[in-house]
Amino acid sequence: MNKTITTKYYCHRSGVFKSKGKGECALKITGSCKIDQCCPFFIRTVAGLINIDGTYCKTHFGHQNEIRYLPIPTIVQETIAGIPIFIFEICSY
Ligand SMILES: [Zn+2]
Repeated sequence: MNKTITTKYYCHRSGVFKSKGKGECALKITGSCKIDQCCPFFIRTVAGLINIDGTYCKTHFGHQNEIRYLPIPTIVQETIAGIPIFIFEICSY
């Protein structure tokens, strides 16, 4: 039996901002990362015992790739700011 694990990753900027609070706290200065519409970017992986297959849509829509909206610690954002970003494409067979 070939058991596989399928995982799908979506763009974290996709979707509509929903406040979790009761309006008592101001929204952070940078605002929400959500773009109030869908971004088609996704990566789907199917992991088997021997290999991992991947399919993806690498197109982002409705936003730029801005470091300030990446869900990573501020110190890491400051470290990578200004460094050229190399994008490694995932091969799909
Ligand atoms: Zn996106």
